[in-house]
Amino acid sequence: MIDVNTIAERDRSTVLHPFTQLKDFATGKIGDPTIVAGGKGIRIEDAQGRSYIDGFAGLYCVNIGYGRTEVAEAIARQAYKLAYYHTYAAHTTEELATLSDRLVRMAPGKASKVFYGLSGSDANETQAKLVWYYNNLRGQPKKKKIISRERGYHGCSVISGSMTGMSFYHDYMGLPFPGILHTGTPHHYWGAEPGETQESFSRRRAAELEELIVREGPETIGAFIAEPVLGTGGITPPPAGYWSEIQTVLRRYDVLLIADEVICGFGRTGADFGSTLYGMEPDLVTVAKGLTSGYFPLSGAIVGERVYAVMEEAADRVGAFSHGYTYSGHPIAAAAANAVLDIVEKERLIGRARTVGSYFHLRLRERFAQLEIVGEVRGVGLLGAIEFVADRQTKRRFDPELKVGARISKAARDRGLIIRAMPHGDILGFAPPLVVTETEIDEIVDMAYRATKQVMDELAKK
Ligand code: PMP
Repeated sequence: MIDVNTIAERDRSTVLHPFTQLKDFATGKIGDPTIVAGGKGIRIEDAQGRSYIDGFAGLYCVNIGYGRTEVAEAIARQAYKLAYYHTYAAHTTEELATLSDRLVRMAPGKASKVFYGLSGSDANETQAKLVWYYNNLRGQPKKKKIISRERGYHGCSVISGSMTGMSFYHDYMGLPFPGILHTGTPHHYWGAEPGETQESFSRRRAAELEELIVREGPETIGAFIAEPVLGTGGITPPPAGYWSEIQTVLRRYDVLLIADEVICGFGRTGADFGSTLYGMEPDLVTVAKGLTSGYFPLSGAIVGERVYAVMEEAADRVGAFSHGYTYSGHPIAAAAANAVLDIVEKERLIGRARTVGSYFHLRLRERFAQLEIVGEVRGVGLLGAIEFVADRQTKRRFDPELKVGARISKAARDRGLIIRAMPHGDILGFAPPLVVTETEIDEIVDMAYRATKQVMDELAKK
């Protein structure tokens, strides 16, 4: 065993950490890295033996909770039997064929095939290429622009990072890439005019999308990509009527719909997919995270019949589908996904996310809705957010220098609860594993409440 100081020092001098202030980390200003050493159920443990409730399921992915030996055994069995083979030139494994059959049956829209990758980012990169490929093959080579939404999150590779609608993911990185456009975010609390209903706000957002399509020329717009529930941009369920209005516009201009189900998929919202919950009929569906609950990297770009039919029809003319990774359809990933989906089915975790989710929102509203620094309490299923404001009446935001969201998240962490300060505004995000119980929900909400009260007291003393 290496001692914790050596691990911390090795890490500090060699690991380039995502989403970490590099100088503060290098100089020790933000302390040592947390060395995560174990996990069971909804809890993780660090190398010093401190236990934390993980109220964010890692990065909204460990839906079945930590330490599930069934999945570890499935991974080990597959590694002993066959650790690797590729899926190029029509090779497969039993585990992959089983998984794909399952996914095509359960996916929203008219699913036809699954293309496998390793991350949500690469799957969305594939979706962009599929949109371009499809439109080239059907003789519409100009129809390539992709529209996403401000505050949408779709990854951080070149195209998926461009689709992501938050400028701090673009700044200094040379993004967004040309041909990726953004339209308004469907967040009623911030975006609606005084007195505007959710329905009329949804109509206005759809009208703005239509204006953008017409302005750019419908013959240049290939697809619209969106999360059913906006995730990293603030955990924001859509306003009433939003998806029906948006889909009417997309159909009018022959624009494909890509549903990014990376967070929502496999039960997070209390439905199998966010698309099902909101009546979306996507042409392309992106899945990752919950597919393996994070036990092994795996993502899928699920291709609907409409797109696939054009691809197959053109094959004699264009030759092989020339896109694929060494690890596309990795057999260990497929074995992990099958074991995870077995647990999701057997333990009825989707239904649980709905019922425990209702209890969660009840408790969250009870505790937080009346606090004077809370602007909005929102969410669906086992996704929740609290938005903090300096003035509830005028919706004045806190001075960003006060870092209110980050401080509450830190105060919660000091009490042993991980909840995430979302990167856009003073927002606290909750996404516990779907195996969370009502008693554990009480614990999470109470700890978050006490952390919030602590920071409110600090703010009042200023
Ligand atoms: N899409 C959505 C909706 C996501 O939430 C994420 C990750 N948070 C991604 C795509 C990117 O996934 P990855 O980090 O696996 O590349």
